Amino acid sequence: MLFHPQTYRIPDRPNVPFIDPLEIEEILCVTRDPSIERVREVVGKSLSRQRLSLAETAVLLNADTPEARNLILESARQLKQAVYGNRIVLFAPLYIGTRCINQCSYCGFRANNRTAVRHTLTHSEIQSETEALEDAGHKRLILVYGEHPRYDARYIAQTVKWVYEVKKGHGEIRRININAAPLDITGFRTVRQSRIGTYQIFQETYHPEAYRKYHPAGPKRDYDYRLTAFDRAMQAGIDDVGLGALLGLYDWRFEVMALVRHVNHLEACFKVGPHTISFPRIKTASQVRLPLEHLVDDEDFIRLVAILRLAVPYTGLILTARERAALRDRLIEYGVSQIDGGTKLEIGGYCSDKPGQNIHKEQFELNDKRPLAEIIETLVSQRRIPSFCTACYRKGRTGEHFMEFSVNGFIKRYCTPNGLLTFSEYLEDYAAPDLRSKGWRLIESELKGLSQTDIPLATELSKRLELIRLGERDLLW
Ligand code: SAM
Ligand code: SF4
Repeated sequence: MLFHPQTYRIPDRPNVPFIDPLEIEEILCVTRDPSIERVREVVGKSLSRQRLSLAETAVLLNADTPEARNLILESARQLKQAVYGNRIVLFAPLYIGTRCINQCSYCGFRANNRTAVRHTLTHSEIQSETEALEDAGHKRLILVYGEHPRYDARYIAQTVKWVYEVKKGHGEIRRININAAPLDITGFRTVRQSRIGTYQIFQETYHPEAYRKYHPAGPKRDYDYRLTAFDRAMQAGIDDVGLGALLGLYDWRFEVMALVRHVNHLEACFKVGPHTISFPRIKTASQVRLPLEHLVDDEDFIRLVAILRLAVPYTGLILTARERAALRDRLIEYGVSQIDGGTKLEIGGYCSDKPGQNIHKEQFELNDKRPLAEIIETLVSQRRIPSFCTACYRKGRTGEHFMEFSVNGFIKRYCTPNGLLTFSEYLEDYAAPDLRSKGWRLIESELKGLSQTDIPLATELSKRLELIRLGERDLLW
């Protein structure tokens, strides 16, 4: 059993806010200056595939000597490689509407930013944007919405349906996640029926006082309603959720503790943890003066990813194109399992051939502007498998990261073969000749490795890969 219920001052009950800032700060305080032996003990627990408690997470956050920092990084790298192997899942965000009635002081879309370009994609614009994304090779999207009465649950469900309907050549979107303002249970039910994958929403900062400072007006000012959004989503039958904190608003150690606390809350109330955690760092945006006090530098950011990997080993970690290419490549080593590729934040940007960016049309600035093909080229040169897999979600296997982590042989049986199959589809349908041959060489060598441990699986996979070369698609396990 991997879930260990823990006792907190505020007991976990659905729809009851559960963050106690004093408790988190006390735990961070009593675990200060841990010995290297204590750090070893804690990483040993992660490496034996157990999730860490809040106090153990705090030990890692407080481990500040060079030796302890190295130990944490190396252990995260080891865990990532041992558990997840060399796959990396690719997706793209699609901004549907930039209208917003909130005043988040860090965001270019906030209501009082008069320079922001406001637009909601029409049905035909959604079709063209989706076609452009399919033409690049994408199969997984996250649809992103401002908070506005126009973007209610029915509208969100409608746009999800429109995107699923778009098929171009071999192109289709097989999994749509959404990032949208919190809904009530009825709203979540409506959205669920449109077959979303993950419902994602970030608490931004889990510190209630800081939260109030950055959200001076609008419905988002209600910290508790946002904090309990996943409880309502779960009650509406959405058991696949993505947490996140926007780093730079408050102390990052506090945010990591609160993210782990949120994981505990969901496990305690619903017996299921989140599918993913995101940890975007705040970036320059139109008419935004960045708060400087809590900015997270690269070194701490790398530590933070490694600590999250060790603290919640069976949760997917998402890193977006907010970050530079070189840093993204490094962070994959320490635990990141999903990245976006070829991202355009400008609304309608996937169809536009205009080079460059217009900050007023975007929510914030992007730092990795490589097209998807270039990202894949880099991944292949690092012998990583780019995966567009959507199999678990479509086969009804929920809690896929949990299974990857805890079910012996799950990765070999499902994730690697499905990753290779979806990568081979990409190579056949969208890759330039040079990348296609490099990619197929990588697939052949993976297949050879597999045949040394599981001949029947390797034989079946090789058959399916041949069918893909012959034009069949979507041969998932
Ligand atoms: N409007 C919805 C909301 O606020 O939840 C959903 C989408 S919002 C467009 C997606 C996320 O972008 C926000 O939750 C926030 O964490 C992030 N974001 C906003 N401003 C940012 C900035 N300046 N730099 C980096 N990320 C930012
Ligand atoms: Fe609106 Fe979301 Fe931006 Fe806040 S973060 S201003 S809610 S789009």
